[in-house]
Amino acid sequence: MEEQLKSIKESALSAIHGASNNQELQDIRVKFLGKKGELTALLKGLGKLSKEERPAAGAKVNEARVVLEEAISALQDKFDAAELKEKLTRERIDITLPGRAPQKGHMHPLTIVNEMIEEFFMKMGYTVEEGPEIEQDYYNFECLNLPKDHPARDMQDSFYITDNFLLRTHTSPVQARTMQAHTSNAPIRMIAPGKVYRWDYDATHSPVFHQVEGLLIDKDIKFSDLKGTLELFLKYMFGEKTKIRFRTSFFPFTEPSAEVDISCVMCGGEGCRVCSHTGWLEILGCGMVHPNVLRLNGYDPEKVQGFAFGMGVERIAMLLYGINDLRLFFEDDTRFLKQF
Ligand SMILES: [Zn+2]
Repeated sequence: MEEQLKSIKESALSAIHGASNNQELQDIRVKFLGKKGELTALLKGLGKLSKEERPAAGAKVNEARVVLEEAISALQDKFDAAELKEKLTRERIDITLPGRAPQKGHMHPLTIVNEMIEEFFMKMGYTVEEGPEIEQDYYNFECLNLPKDHPARDMQDSFYITDNFLLRTHTSPVQARTMQAHTSNAPIRMIAPGKVYRWDYDATHSPVFHQVEGLLIDKDIKFSDLKGTLELFLKYMFGEKTKIRFRTSFFPFTEPSAEVDISCVMCGGEGCRVCSHTGWLEILGCGMVHPNVLRLNGYDPEKVQGFAFGMGVERIAMLLYGINDLRLFFEDDTRFLKQF
């Protein structure tokens, strides 16, 4: 038994010293000290010895075990240190390289234009109002002088959710809601910016787009007030030299109604592809609030008048920045977005 222990111990130690990495050490530990290891087998064999012999023999086997454990763990520390050193060398960081700064985000071109519009009208004393994007047919159409059978409803291909709810096709319902929230005949100066939805998709139409509408109601409001306000606004947006013209038009919510054109931002009015060689670009719609709309929303057209206007934010951004495809605004391509 003593001979056997000596031989196991020697072959184990020589195996340990011959090991070249942690995996080999692990295999050696299993071979000698594991559940079915050689030293463990020897320990189990102690039962065959006499009672007197057993304690001394057991102590010797355990002593050998401790020696082997220590030899293994000493070598393991050595291997660990070497591995760490190798890893540190391999993954060394070159602190002399210039750092990589995180990319800064910035505002979307539509946000920039929206804020320009808001800033102008807030300086003129307008409030900025918001409303729901899922709207009742009543607010979106009916109280704006567009009853259910009105042919002008066809101009706006809508996304209906139920017969009575739809995705709003314009921000005009915010005007109606604001009027109805006011006490009778109280003056209003408001703009309503926000997303609107129509069944349309091509280079100049998107099923979701942004509008800003404005509404002013007060005593003695005339068409010249509307004209002056929009002239100031369009020169603020497109520059002092911009020429402006009003053309008669039709909207169910205004009477009289007009389309407003500006001199072409590309050619300055000479005529080019963008303005279809007319020198003019259509930019917004407007008019005096229809007496029916005033009445439907709690105002007395005998006592107050108002004007309203509406514009597409995408169209203005496209003209300001020379963008020819509206879909670029929604594609999240940073090569496009970085330019603003
Ligand atoms: Zn032009």
